Amino acid sequence: MTLRERPLPRARLLGERDKRHFIDGKWIASLKEERIETFNPATGTVLATLSRGRAEDVDRAVRAARSAFEGPWRSFTPGARQQIIMRFAELFEKNFEELTLLESLDMGAPLQKRLRAGKSGIIQTILYFAAQARSIGGENPHNSLAGNVTTMIVKAPVGVVGAIIPWNGPLFSQMHVLGPVLATGCTAVIKPAEDASLAILRTAELLLEAGLPPGVVNVVTGIGAEAGAALAAHPDVNRLAFTGSTQVGREIIKASAGNMKRLQLELGGKSPDIVFADADLDKAVPGVAMGVYANSGQICFAGTRIFVQRSVQEQFVERLSAYSKSLKVGDPLEDDTVLGPLISQRQLDRVLGYVQSGQAEGASLVSGGSRIGGKLAEGYYLEPTVFGGVSNSMKVAREEIFGPVASVIPFDTVEEVLQLANDSPYGLASGVWSSNVNTVMRMVHGIQAGTVWVNCYGMIDPAVGFGGYKESGYGWKGGEAQIDGYLYQKAAYINVAN
Ligand code: NAD
Repeated sequence: MTLRERPLPRARLLGERDKRHFIDGKWIASLKEERIETFNPATGTVLATLSRGRAEDVDRAVRAARSAFEGPWRSFTPGARQQIIMRFAELFEKNFEELTLLESLDMGAPLQKRLRAGKSGIIQTILYFAAQARSIGGENPHNSLAGNVTTMIVKAPVGVVGAIIPWNGPLFSQMHVLGPVLATGCTAVIKPAEDASLAILRTAELLLEAGLPPGVVNVVTGIGAEAGAALAAHPDVNRLAFTGSTQVGREIIKASAGNMKRLQLELGGKSPDIVFADADLDKAVPGVAMGVYANSGQICFAGTRIFVQRSVQEQFVERLSAYSKSLKVGDPLEDDTVLGPLISQRQLDRVLGYVQSGQAEGASLVSGGSRIGGKLAEGYYLEPTVFGGVSNSMKVAREEIFGPVASVIPFDTVEEVLQLANDSPYGLASGVWSSNVNTVMRMVHGIQAGTVWVNCYGMIDPAVGFGGYKESGYGWKGGEAQIDGYLYQKAAYINVAN
């Protein structure tokens, strides 16, 4: 039985199609009462309408967040904050099917895959931050001063955090904001992507149900250049967590300069995935393929520059292409779908433009490359695509495509592939497939990227974290480093001799 035939979980927020902002624990319309439409990418039809937030709506949300920060939230001990996060985690888990359905309908991710693989990762992320809530403390360093002077480093929440979230995985992305915000005692205004806001709106309701005081987490929906830009520029926002494209990341840096906001920028990538001749190809082929095709290629760390050692290149391309053809592209609500649609017609056109450019620059299109018709013609579906004979200077190897397009580039030596892998403005992630420990260690140390996966691709542990080199951004997501970013640090020198 397909999911379409089964009774779907009650998606509460689809009940009323016209959504509002979530400010100070209440559903509030935009001051100008303007709206935008959000589409189901599997069918091209309107799913709901969202309030179109402008600067004045953002201001209202920031004021609510400030007064919650100065008011009731301040009196919550770390233990009380931890309890709320734990209650929220329970509610989130209980409602996971509904939340995932909202996300799938909104942005096209295969529902069953998300339900199976996404749940533990997302819940583990929030539970990790629940544990962190109790371990935030100051320090009492040894010092070189006289014995009558005691030094302390005390830590305090930075205040109001603005969070701008992309559409490609809103449930997961928001956890890396909610976790540190709630663990440290900050408050937040979240601006979800205009293409996928529904799961984030529903999450805000669950936070309230978990006992979070109104105003601690607020959501303003709307367009990036309007609501997003207003949040980035707002003078009473202390920290901004932005996840999105490198191009918009540059705008964020400029907009946030006014009050010197602390910034966390999780930006784009063009990650190398490197296959050596001594790799186990039975594992490398599916691993590399899903490193590109998961979420239909709409993942920041997609390993789209596939460097393959020349002696196995021909065999690898053949097997990668056969594997690509075996993947089911289809309705995100069907049980066996592996790849859903792309997010929008605009994104589909953009990706098709890259397919054309690869061909025009002389790469060979080995498989895929076309929009899928038939019963999928209404949605934004693209065949998983493999290019062979790519050079690292072609546009398909330099720019982030954000679609299911794999480019295979041959190489000969470790030195050569390190130079090629690092020849990119990005440095988000990377993969290495080899059975030789020397080769592996040279790559781990030599690759300029925030993550190196060895004989695997795409796993993330919230305790380890994630971040970028170069134009992939700065500010570590996860681990204690992320918690530190949500805290001010203050030195106290206490002279008790007087
Ligand atoms: P995007 O940059 O277009 O939009 C991201 C968010 O920024 C959206 O909420 C959008 O409304 C908002 N925005 C757009 N213009 C803005 C402006 N001028 N001021 C303020 N906010 C603005 O990116 P996208 O297309 O939604 O997402 C895809 C991009 O995100 C890819 O480049 C991908 O690599 C990146 N991404 C990075 C990570 C990471 O952890 N490094 C994770 C997911 C996605």
